[in-house]
Amino acid sequence: MGATLDALQRLQSIELQLRSARDQIESKFRTVDAQRRKIATLQRQATDIRDTIRRTQADADKLELERKAREAHLAKLREALNRSKTNKEYAAVLTQLNTDKADALKFEDQVLSALTKVDDLKKQAAEIDARLQKEQTRVAELEQAARDTEQKLAGQISALEAQREEATEGIPLEALRLFERACEHHDGEGMAMIEQPHPKRAEYICSGCYMAVTLESINALQSRDAVITCPNCSRILYLESQALTV
Ligand SMILES: [Zn+2]
Repeated sequence: MGATLDALQRLQSIELQLRSARDQIESKFRTVDAQRRKIATLQRQATDIRDTIRRTQADADKLELERKAREAHLAKLREALNRSKTNKEYAAVLTQLNTDKADALKFEDQVLSALTKVDDLKKQAAEIDARLQKEQTRVAELEQAARDTEQKLAGQISALEAQREEATEGIPLEALRLFERACEHHDGEGMAMIEQPHPKRAEYICSGCYMAVTLESINALQSRDAVITCPNCSRILYLESQALTV
């Protein structure tokens, strides 16, 4: 087996372990971020609903002033009714009183409906606050879990980083560059095994992208320590017989 391909496969194995460890940590922190976004949305909702409560309460206060003004007006009319000297005068004031009473009643309804709305909004605000509190407790737990995972894997990661450094020694620079570039494009899978889909046919494919690999490439891999990349996906190719058993 070629020494370079051998070293590259060890590097590949370390690279994948390293990425898997880092992914575990990143995934935990992504969950924390998602939770923070959820909280931010709830906080916006809480602010919005409080604004609406303030506006609705101000409307209710204004309507209440109007209602009181009308009540005072009705009280005056009632006095006028009591003071009326003639039947004609009495009838005229009474008509006025009845008309204005109906008008005042409308205001009463409006005040009531505005206050009911304020009550409903306050209930909603309380529900949002309760949810916020729950989600904030949850974000604290998730942050702790993420930090715990980070701490737990820190030793493993630094060990793997050291191993990775060590594994690159002896790999020609050009091969290392090819490997690293392929890793960037394929989530750390810088290498791919060549497969022969039909045992009786001399046809070969890259197991990374399933595109055909030429016989020349197979021959080169069999005869020397060649570093050959897949022309389609750029992964470094190796034969099944060259696979490391790690
Ligand atoms: Zn490929």
